[in-house]
Amino acid sequence: MRPVDAAGKMEPILVALDQILAARRRIAPYLEPTPLQASRTFSRMTGWQVWLKPENLQRTGSFKARGALNAVLRLAEGEGETGGPQAPSRRRGVITASSGNHGQAVAFAAASAGLPATVVVPEQASPAKVAAMEGYGARVVRHGRFPDERKAHARRLAREEGLHYIDSTDDPDVIAGQGTVAVEVLEDLPDVAALVVPVGGGGLISGVAAAVKGMRPGVRVIGVEPVGSAAMHASLQAGRPVTLDQVDSVADGLWCRRPGDLCFAHVRRFVDDIVRVDEAEILAAMALLAERAKLVVEPSGAVSLAAGLARRLPGVAAGRPVAFVLTGGNVALDRYAAWLAEPQRVWSPEG
Ligand SMILES: *Cc1c(COP(=O)(O)O)cnc(C)c1O
Repeated sequence: MRPVDAAGKMEPILVALDQILAARRRIAPYLEPTPLQASRTFSRMTGWQVWLKPENLQRTGSFKARGALNAVLRLAEGEGETGGPQAPSRRRGVITASSGNHGQAVAFAAASAGLPATVVVPEQASPAKVAAMEGYGARVVRHGRFPDERKAHARRLAREEGLHYIDSTDDPDVIAGQGTVAVEVLEDLPDVAALVVPVGGGGLISGVAAAVKGMRPGVRVIGVEPVGSAAMHASLQAGRPVTLDQVDSVADGLWCRRPGDLCFAHVRRFVDDIVRVDEAEILAAMALLAERAKLVVEPSGAVSLAAGLARRLPGVAAGRPVAFVLTGGNVALDRYAAWLAEPQRVWSPEG
């Protein structure tokens, strides 16, 4: 019997290490591992041995290609749903709701597997993002202004048209795929002391933490949220997923009003700490990554390094190797240029 929580609800089944290792084998023909890069400047500035895991260099520009590809390939193999290879959604394709990197990742993954994809985007979605999804052959449906409306619409279309819905975070196949980031880090850097991970809905940190605690339980996993969208931090404090009234941050990939039950269960079980960074810290880290590491990283992807530069990594001894996951690099160039032109003097690289 699975444990039952205080509200009498069944605790979800957590993703196991062998699912993450299987995901790694499944996606390997399509995605190359990203290179782990040492940074002398950031090591000097933080006091830790800083290693950067640049998922901004990943196909589609973010780590989300991993989870989406694992979910789509499992479906294509006939494993992602009951009914086997002849089940209708295997032929009819997949659907998701996303204004950003997950939509692009599902479009890419479906194209790779030869399945049709539909992405529900906001009515005001940027033409560049829509063009990227359509470039992979996806059907793009504009609907509503709020994420909840879009998800509901995607689920409705899934039922009406017999499509397989892929959530951006609360899906075991997606979580297993995102966990492959950690497998690569642990292989490349066996003495790593901690992994530092941006947190939005929590799919990435769920997979990373499940992999780390399965392979090397002594390694710390620290999540980072913007102060203006810290639903996971609030939920951990409350002991259950809570809903924020509003969210706001330059790190728009991390907007999340309420973590899903599956991600929350992983975080509560496996994650050592969730810390928060403010807007100036995020933009300063993003600019330093451009200047010092020559990496174009979107604000959501820079929150991990921001926490390191703020020396906000509880329980990690000075001098130890720490891996910072830089989650993505999809940012409109005009906004990026404007942020870089307005320097945030939070930390000086000259020390
Ligand atoms: C989706 C995303 C995140 C957050 O990932 P979750 O799985 O939602 O926690 C962080 N950074 C970037 C660039 C993303 O696209």
